[in-house]
Amino acid sequence: MKNFDKEQVSNEFFMAFTGAGSYVSETCGFCGRVHFVNRDSEGGNYEEGHYEDLLARMEREPEKYVMHTDAISYGYLAGVLFIPECPCNGGTRYEKFIINHASQIADFMQAMAERKQKEADEAKENAGKTQMLGSS
Ligand SMILES: [Zn+2]
Repeated sequence: MKNFDKEQVSNEFFMAFTGAGSYVSETCGFCGRVHFVNRDSEGGNYEEGHYEDLLARMEREPEKYVMHTDAISYGYLAGVLFIPECPCNGGTRYEKFIINHASQIADFMQAMAERKQKEADEAKENAGKTQMLGSS
């Protein structure tokens, strides 16, 4: 794992919000940069000509392509493909939101848990009534 600068997400955020890895290529949903794995290090499973095409494109537009020497870790944030190692740091605003609103999020999660528990208790109670009606 790389050392992250201040604008990148923390290692903890990285671990919590990425659950997949690619040994070929993925496109950052925040900025459109194409991340791909160096075939000579870890990459594999490229269709014929794909890797050469990526290298040629990177030559023309180096800012749009990011070569990885290891698998590309990725996940989704609000439905957008998130690559923690992308220079756009697309996940940082989400981490900052969570940290800056940790107390509100905790209150919200607590309230949701209480509501779900109440609904489960009511469902259990209603199931008991139905059973009593059925058995009489
Ligand atoms: Zn990006």
